[in-house]
Amino acid sequence: MAAGRIVVVFDFDETIIDCDSDNWVVDELGFTDLFNHLLPTLPWNSLMDKMMKEIHSKGRSIEDISECLRRVPLHPQIITAIKSAYALGCDLRIVSDANVFFIETVLKHHGLMGCFSEIHTNPSFVDEEGRLRIFPHHDFTSSSLGCNLPCPPDTGLVIERIRDSVFAAGNKRFIYLGDGIGDFCPSLKLGEEDFVMPRKNYPVWELISSNKLLIKAEVHEWSTGDELELTLLRLINTIINEEKNTSSTTYSSSSLNISEDFRFQMKTVFSYA
Ligand SMILES: [Mg+2]
Repeated sequence: MAAGRIVVVFDFDETIIDCDSDNWVVDELGFTDLFNHLLPTLPWNSLMDKMMKEIHSKGRSIEDISECLRRVPLHPQIITAIKSAYALGCDLRIVSDANVFFIETVLKHHGLMGCFSEIHTNPSFVDEEGRLRIFPHHDFTSSSLGCNLPCPPDTGLVIERIRDSVFAAGNKRFIYLGDGIGDFCPSLKLGEEDFVMPRKNYPVWELISSNKLLIKAEVHEWSTGDELELTLLRLINTIINEEKNTSSTTYSSSSLNISEDFRFQMKTVFSYA
């Protein structure tokens, strides 16, 4: 299997970046108290839209928000992991409950924008007054997954849609990385040929750990950017080798050894990064 048939789906907050981008912007610009005061009164995305209105009304510009986002903590090895997976030919996508402006600002700043074929998140735009508007992508009134988890209602459906679209072009293998409650439904959608990478000691890891029988995909936890990079590239290598050596049953997917062939590929990738 060519790496192009490997689909890597990332959550954004607390997965690609090491914080929640909404909280980061609110806190960095000094609006935490107002945010906490309004939190019980509005759905999250409506609250973020209102916070952008408040921030704008206090004279903070869209550039102030951009500057803030450019300082978001993003582990250097996660940047390397994304660039390496892309250079190896994987199809990289983001499914997030943040918004287009926040995600694109961070990705562009780190030179990662071109690595992703799809960013599925809440729409946002800068209006004629220079205020950032944020709209919910999904319909809060319906939860078509039929589960009781307090996650964005369509997160699991997005995975199904991605799966449907990529299956049309042939068999695909998924690697899904996430941290939050909203990443549990997508994890349930993965098949036994897929991999899920929950962030250790975060809500999705706890849900997966206590519902192991519901998860068909192979589970590989991670904590730090270094572990994310090592684990993700090892899994990509595993899939490539499994497909290359379909007749061999000796390969262990839990092996920490990265093949010499793969090391050579990675050297090539890094020399062009
Ligand atoms: Mg998250």
